Amino acid sequence: MTSRQEEAGDAPAVPDSVSNYVDGEWVDATAETSLPVTNPATGETLATVTLSADRDVGTAVDAASEAFESWRRVPPVDRVQYLFDLKQELEKRHEDIARTLSREHGKTVAEARGEVRRGIENVEVAAGIPNMMREGSGTVEDVAAGMDETAVRQPLGVFAAITPFNFPAMIPLWFLPYAVATGNTFVLKPSERVPLSSQLIVEAIEAVGLPDGVVNLVNGAADTVNAILEHPDVEGVSFVGSTPVAKHVYETAARHGKRVQAQGGAKNYVVVTPSAILDDTVPNIVGSVYGNAGERCLANDVVVGVGDVYDDLREEVVSNTEKLVVGTGLDEDTDVGPLITEDARENVVAMVDEALDEGADLVLDGRDFDHPDHDDGNFLGPTILEGVTADMAIAQEEIFGPVLCLARADDLDDAVEMVNSTRYGNASSIFTERGSEARKYKYEVDAGNVGVNVGVCAPMGFFHFGGRKDSFFGDTHAQGEDAVQFYTEKKVVMERWYS
Ligand code: NAD
Repeated sequence: MTSRQEEAGDAPAVPDSVSNYVDGEWVDATAETSLPVTNPATGETLATVTLSADRDVGTAVDAASEAFESWRRVPPVDRVQYLFDLKQELEKRHEDIARTLSREHGKTVAEARGEVRRGIENVEVAAGIPNMMREGSGTVEDVAAGMDETAVRQPLGVFAAITPFNFPAMIPLWFLPYAVATGNTFVLKPSERVPLSSQLIVEAIEAVGLPDGVVNLVNGAADTVNAILEHPDVEGVSFVGSTPVAKHVYETAARHGKRVQAQGGAKNYVVVTPSAILDDTVPNIVGSVYGNAGERCLANDVVVGVGDVYDDLREEVVSNTEKLVVGTGLDEDTDVGPLITEDARENVVAMVDEALDEGADLVLDGRDFDHPDHDDGNFLGPTILEGVTADMAIAQEEIFGPVLCLARADDLDDAVEMVNSTRYGNASSIFTERGSEARKYKYEVDAGNVGVNVGVCAPMGFFHFGGRKDSFFGDTHAQGEDAVQFYTEKKVVMERWYS
């Protein structure tokens, strides 16, 4: 990929067409159907993405299958040298990827820089694979007279990852580095709404000279995903996206005999107790709710004030939220960028309308926000609802927009009951200065990621990342040791020698 569409000002050039990367070559998908890739802040078409057909998936999986036989034989210490080089390539391209990401997704460039950093972190962690693969392996001598028993981890073959629109640079890197470092080969299917960041990451992979076929990129949407799920030579699938699709991926991949880990949607609460220090708490919460314009699986969009903290909490939340600047992602002053599509914007407005019908009160109304320069942007101003109760749809379903719901609880037991009332279990946070409250919360909350005085509890690359209940389908999660388990199969060897 060399051609670039230049843009005025300091906006980065972006690829003007989106290609697949198969067997070390950039190739066009053979399919007829394509979609525009649109800048959600301006409505401008950035590129066109062709939605790959079954045969395009087939050629990528064939390339990955063929590459596997030799790649698995490359010693792990040599495999990770490519990751050390990839880290350097990504560092060099960090700003370019971040600015492209901001243009195709809409998030602020500061958020995009942070996202790329979290992606690189996983490349760094996966560079420790020779050590990490020792987990679950080892030898015991003399399990019987003269007999030794050894457990080893082996790669399985071709793995695929199917990723969502909201973290286009980070989420592919939750999987790719671990898959290839453990000796597997890989097919990435990024979100068709934001394919440009993945293209830049794969260009970095091309630059480090990984053997052809070890990493392949196939663009597309639902049909492309289904072709991956049904392909007999795909050993396992990692998925991140909405809960209905996560369930579909989990069931279909399992039916076709594959390993599968499928991360779904979320509904996250944050609880504030009277002992919390509001000057520290509120900016943290406001960042959690409105960061990434609320399009974040870790956004804590329901804020529960326990007992008499509520009035002060409400006042601080409102005054902090009113200061937020809505704008285009590349404007360094922006706090809240646009939503990904006009449909997404309308869905969020409909959820707010429904909450008002159900009895919530409007404290701050961002529904009619208009950007002075960008009529076609999918902007929504920060919105606050109060009087939200657990039986309302807005308290149960993911909003995925810049909306903060204020709720009250009489005591911590009530608050925990609200938190656990949803069908999701991705994340939740408590703000308190009392250890006993924090302990109770950590112990009783049914979520995979819990924050104590931390609004966005996004695990570091050396810990696993995954939710519970309808936020996750599978066994082993993304990142760290879990990734090593997902991408390897254990084998036991019992050995005796007679001569
Ligand atoms: P999505 O489910 O619409 O799409 C995710 C992927 O699935 C995309 O690659 C898309 O092409 C594909 N896809 C879409 N519809 C499909 C279908 N019918 N059949 C097969 N494949 C299909 O999700 P999204 O809107 O891109 O992402 C937002 C969602 O992802 C939110 O619900 C968010 O909470 C979730 N998410 C979860 C986590 C987590 O760690 N649990 C992280 C990030 C995002």
